[in-house]
Amino acid sequence: MNKKSIKDFDYKGKKVLVRCDFNVPLKDGEITDETRIRESLPTIEYLTNEGAAVILMSHLGRPKGKANHEYSLEPVATKLSEMLDKEVRFLDDDKVVSDKTIKEVASIKDGEIVLLQNTRFLEGEEKNDKDFSKKLASLADLYVNDAFGTAHRAHASNVGVSEILPSAVGLLVEKEIEVMANSIENPERPFVAILGGAKVSDKIGVIENLLTKVDKIIIVGAMANTFLKAEGKGVGTSLVEDDKLDLAKDLINKAKDANVELILPVDLVVAYEIKDDVEIKTVSTDEIPEDKMALDIGEETIEKIKEALSDAKTVVWNGPAGVFEVEALSKGTFAIADILADLDATTIIGGGDSAAAVEKSGKADKITHISTGGGASLELLEGKELPGIACIEDRE
Ligand code: ADP
Ligand code: MG
Repeated sequence: MNKKSIKDFDYKGKKVLVRCDFNVPLKDGEITDETRIRESLPTIEYLTNEGAAVILMSHLGRPKGKANHEYSLEPVATKLSEMLDKEVRFLDDDKVVSDKTIKEVASIKDGEIVLLQNTRFLEGEEKNDKDFSKKLASLADLYVNDAFGTAHRAHASNVGVSEILPSAVGLLVEKEIEVMANSIENPERPFVAILGGAKVSDKIGVIENLLTKVDKIIIVGAMANTFLKAEGKGVGTSLVEDDKLDLAKDLINKAKDANVELILPVDLVVAYEIKDDVEIKTVSTDEIPEDKMALDIGEETIEKIKEALSDAKTVVWNGPAGVFEVEALSKGTFAIADILADLDATTIIGGGDSAAAVEKSGKADKITHISTGGGASLELLEGKELPGIACIEDRE
């Protein structure tokens, strides 16, 4: 990567402002998944070991520009402190950087860590407001962006501060970019993409970008319904995008022209509705009943996917194969996780729900890289440059 890394600076006697992604799920004030906090540890530990005084910041949830303690970062400070086995002082401040915070930050010493309040308590955050960026930047000598999850947004706490302070990317962002971008741009072949999830319209950019790079593309999930319908098949009451049929036809033709094998399901699990104890049946894609919807891929399709992946050396997967949140409809998605886990290949998962599905499958530790950024990882798969990374200083 051509961006400055945290290893390019000296930190003795320096204050470093670090944008992390602490946007963790909370239930009744308790953190229900601490993955994002765990992923932030390497950068924080590196900086404190190098003698920096560390000022952490993040957003959490959608407080919509107002102080709302439901979205306070205090539980994150407590958890982080536990995980680092070191004090993380939480600077509770409805204005994020008011005079009391400026004073507190001025007194922190080398190796100490503080966490600011939720940056989205102020409207200026999402508006990339210059005054808010200046206030944040005034706290430190250097800026590090380690928030991959918001790198596709240009906000005050990433793009804004990077325009004022010398900047570098953190270890998590570096890892995300290296693994994701490298495997897509210089893949070991055969390179296969598996794309699924809810809507074709969410993934047009991903399909178009990957179509020019992969050897095979496998379409699953509700997205497959639109492709099947475009091929003239009946899809019953399935989730389908009728206004994207021409686009699907166009993509099928583009794949042909590019000599990319496009694989669609041959059988699907159907039901009257989405619920826990719903009665399910597997049918061929030629026989989807008019009054039922397709909610998962069938056994034959799973076998076909296994076969298609058998010699793969790079696999990118985005989008569950079915409604994996419901046990009876999760088989296809978990089967793909199993297949990927057993491959001797670089395997990469992008997308928020896909990452959650793989975690749930119990096979996460057998996957090369599970991206921590939902929207940001999709934009990388679309081949886009992320503003939160583009804004970081280039290496000379
Ligand atoms: P990601 O967040 O990984 O990019 P998406 O948001 O595109 O994935 O899609 C995930 C959602 O797609 C899941 O909530 C899942 O229930 C839904 N889904 C997958 N297959 C189907 C289907 N056949 N019918 C309805 N919903 C589906
Ligand atoms: Mg999603």
